[in-house]
Amino acid sequence: VNLANQIAAGEVIERPASVVKELLENALDAHATQIDILIEAAGTKLIEIIDNGDGIDDEDVEVAFRRHATSKINDRQDLFKIRTLGFRGEALPSIASIADVELTTSTGQQAGTAMHIKGGEVLAKTAASARKGTRIKVTELFFNTPARLKYLKSQQTELAKIVDIVNRLALSYPAVTFHLVHNDKQILRTAGNGDVKRVIAEIYGPTTAQKMVPITTTDNDFEVTGFVSVPALTRASRDYISVLINGRYIKNFQITKAIIKGYGSKLMVGRYPFAVINIQMDPLLVDVNVHPTKQEVRLSQEDSLVTLITQAIQHVFTQMSL
Ligand code: ADP
Ligand code: MG
Repeated sequence: VNLANQIAAGEVIERPASVVKELLENALDAHATQIDILIEAAGTKLIEIIDNGDGIDDEDVEVAFRRHATSKINDRQDLFKIRTLGFRGEALPSIASIADVELTTSTGQQAGTAMHIKGGEVLAKTAASARKGTRIKVTELFFNTPARLKYLKSQQTELAKIVDIVNRLALSYPAVTFHLVHNDKQILRTAGNGDVKRVIAEIYGPTTAQKMVPITTTDNDFEVTGFVSVPALTRASRDYISVLINGRYIKNFQITKAIIKGYGSKLMVGRYPFAVINIQMDPLLVDVNVHPTKQEVRLSQEDSLVTLITQAIQHVFTQMSL
């Protein structure tokens, strides 16, 4: 069983940032409004996530660590029909199969549960505080999969990937307070007051936020809202473009291209804008790719969406007569 979990882990958990992503998605699925993320040594020493969400019932704690036990769907196509970010019931068992995991959780109704799992083996299960929410502490990541450990990049790169995930989720969930600390140094704290522009300011700084202008457009199939930077604010990488579909952060090359195209010649070759774009659409139009990290999607009606986005950005510049 642990081998199956380790194989799944190989697909789902590539690096510390993957752990952070899965645990944050779980906290968000559990309706947390405050999430603390404590990282040491870019996640190789410690990843600790504390949320004030629903918690897990004592009798469900062990089930949560069993592979597919909690799978919410059978068909990957159903992904965008469901409201939750998690759906495979794979993350917790995967993480517990390749690390040391200490979980403390409570629904707030009764005494909580503490469980200690390492390498897929339950080492202890005890009663714990009834404070509502969940705390997961992951140490010794990849202790039994040395190939993975070796494959990790520099601490700086691994940390950047963690920060990227936290930033994107913070942008997707402006009503949630995200607090990220690395080696005792605060990297991000969002207000959680629901204001996307405020999150942009918290991540990229107030000067950048001031230069982001709203876009909004719709057609029969899509509703596009968001913020894009004026052309002066450009970076050498696409990392500052965030695209959400129905509130879920995704990757889609055509959409990124459409955003860049909207800037036209205002953007130098090899430069990219800041953008946060949220697309609301019928989940049936989203085609989920087979990759388990579920970020790459294909869309039917992609051509009309791409045109819509390009035009919305062009429209902003026409209005500002830039
Ligand atoms: P999935 O998210 O795909 O259901 P996971 O392995 O990520 O699978 O999590 C298994 C289950 O454990 C979840 O479905 C959820 O019921 C529970 N769970 C995990 N993390 C949390 C959390 N932070 N708060 C509440 N429940 C959680
Ligand atoms: Mg999950």
